[in-house]
Amino acid sequence: AVQAFDKVVDSVCPFCGVGCQTSVAVKDGKIVQVDGRDGYANENRLCVKGRFGFDYVMSAERLTKPLIRRDDAPKSGDIDLSGVDPLTIFREATWEEALERAAGGLKSLLDTHGGKALAGFGSAKGSNEEAYLFQKLVRQGFGTNNVDHCTRLCHASSVAALMEGVGSGAVSAPFNDAMKAECIIVIGARPTTNHPVAATYFKQAAKLGAKLVVMDPRKQDLMRHASHSLVFKPGTDVAMLNALLHVIIEEKLYDEQYIQANVSGFEALREKVKDFSPEAMAEVCGIEAEVLRDVARTYATAERSIIFWGMGISQHTHGTDNSRCLIALALITGHVGRPGTGLHPLRGQNNVQGASDAGLIPMYFPDYKSVENADIRGQYENFWGQALDPKRGLTVVEIIDAIHDGEIRGMYIQGENPAMSDPDQTHARQALAKLEHLVVQDIFLTETAWHADVVLPASAHAEKLGTYTNTNRQVQIGRPALEPPGEARQDWELIVEIGRRMGLDWNYKSVSEVYTEMASVMPSLRNISWERVEREESVIYPADAEDKPGNEIIFSNGFPTSDGRGRITPADLLPPDEVPDEEYPLVLTTGRLLEHWHTGAMTRRAGVLNAIEPVGIAAMNPREIARRGLSQGEMVKVETRRGTVEAILRADREVADGMIFMPFCFNESPANKLTNPMLDPYGKIPEFKYCAAQIEAA
Ligand code: SF4
Repeated sequence: AVQAFDKVVDSVCPFCGVGCQTSVAVKDGKIVQVDGRDGYANENRLCVKGRFGFDYVMSAERLTKPLIRRDDAPKSGDIDLSGVDPLTIFREATWEEALERAAGGLKSLLDTHGGKALAGFGSAKGSNEEAYLFQKLVRQGFGTNNVDHCTRLCHASSVAALMEGVGSGAVSAPFNDAMKAECIIVIGARPTTNHPVAATYFKQAAKLGAKLVVMDPRKQDLMRHASHSLVFKPGTDVAMLNALLHVIIEEKLYDEQYIQANVSGFEALREKVKDFSPEAMAEVCGIEAEVLRDVARTYATAERSIIFWGMGISQHTHGTDNSRCLIALALITGHVGRPGTGLHPLRGQNNVQGASDAGLIPMYFPDYKSVENADIRGQYENFWGQALDPKRGLTVVEIIDAIHDGEIRGMYIQGENPAMSDPDQTHARQALAKLEHLVVQDIFLTETAWHADVVLPASAHAEKLGTYTNTNRQVQIGRPALEPPGEARQDWELIVEIGRRMGLDWNYKSVSEVYTEMASVMPSLRNISWERVEREESVIYPADAEDKPGNEIIFSNGFPTSDGRGRITPADLLPPDEVPDEEYPLVLTTGRLLEHWHTGAMTRRAGVLNAIEPVGIAAMNPREIARRGLSQGEMVKVETRRGTVEAILRADREVADGMIFMPFCFNESPANKLTNPMLDPYGKIPEFKYCAAQIEAA
């Protein structure tokens, strides 16, 4: 029977960077159904999260009133509020009192210790407008560049390499271009789990005859569709990729003309990869030399080849080097700037691309303009009417360390959950507890909010209007289907309220007004007005004119670098920071599950999704389980140098011998209590994908 809805609202999915366009059906004040729309990114498709993961919005756990921490409530990194009545820790407050307390605490620290004592984490789940306002608040209101968000834990190293190599952190071609490619490389990514609708295009392309090369230390579903499946040893990406570069150069499969016209650094690369023959690297990376040679030839000789990568590449202490190798592959073969070719780091969060573009990062104003460039800074100083911090700010993990050092004393965190997402969680939670003033703005009392002095109840994605930029550079509009519950308010209004109460002369009246100001400082959004996004629903940037579709492919005529050329930076093979030893003989790697999104704040409160994956797990190969005398389904203790976590042991043939895989979404089995906070020196991203561990029965 056809169900009658009160209304159906056109919006976009709140979960991953694919950015599927959705129709959200509402009845009796509740979302009752979500369907895919015929948008460019999804052509009516949705995955299980987009289709069934919406009921978190109506959860009884939603924050509906502002909260202020009770004077006698304990504040400690060990506090666990799950199962505890939050009103024993917090008391309800009026908006006036909560906002005064929130802004007053930040202002008092600013007046006493200066802007360097403050920091802010914005959100890759929020809209572009929220991201723009948040970074402006920190830069203009706090007077510091200490502003960051979860891109630091995601593709920061990819962006560092892309900015260096091709002058832009954005993808060069949409994922849909896989359909035009002859050869598709997917490396360090599990798209069927983390970008499921994008994965449908990769599978379809393979079915139609494209060569699909899947490279990952864990086996995965996509390998069933692959022409080449390379299950390589974790942490050896550079060895394997340099071997491919070695073959392409040795066998003269590179595009000499393209290199001469567009690329610098080829000779240094030739020199560097001389020692990386497939025969020498086979033992290092665990892939036979002939397979490496075949993949190199397949990629280089195809008319159109495209590379997709994920956090398996980026979340390493050598993540930037890993991405440099991928960029070198594309540059020496000329597989960039044409349909069906290019470089595409698959973005994680629904708006991690847009939040980064909008300047929610410590080293750049909007559109990746350096805060340390005096001319650029001067333009913003004129625009915003005051002097700005001339030094790049601290990144996510550096901010946590700076709290421990007593340098940072107050924070404003909007829609991020570092108490679950940061590496070495105990260290991170102790830092949050140490803050003299912490304001958390969110829709749930997250593990981060447990540490707050003031909690501001905000709006869920389905309750707000705003734009979001997906992994393809598509700026898309999200529309409200519901009102926020109780007294919860719009995120953008709350950021403005904090700004005003800290003395900023802000008079924004609407989301569209914020968008228009943001677009006025971002060349990437030229010709993409608010009205256009409202009208067209989705516009890819850059666009050459208001009445012309945006450019799906960039770098067709050189690169936005100082000399217009792509730059190769050869990479050395470096070991992970912490390698297995006698005490910790296994490799722990972390990631996501199809059903749960990041720290689980939303999906663990979504009935269907949590019913499918209800408990914290650690996965190992059945052979490894048997070898260690363990049994599938039993409770185990996984231990690293940072701590111990209990989880249920799952047998999983996709996990290689010698490895443990843990998702980081389970509060009761928090994988990030175990992870290594050591950073990549360029992207400042921690090594989530590799640390030494041991396991035993609990
Ligand atoms: Fe949402 Fe991503 Fe699934 Fe699309 S693929 S429905 S954007 S989670």
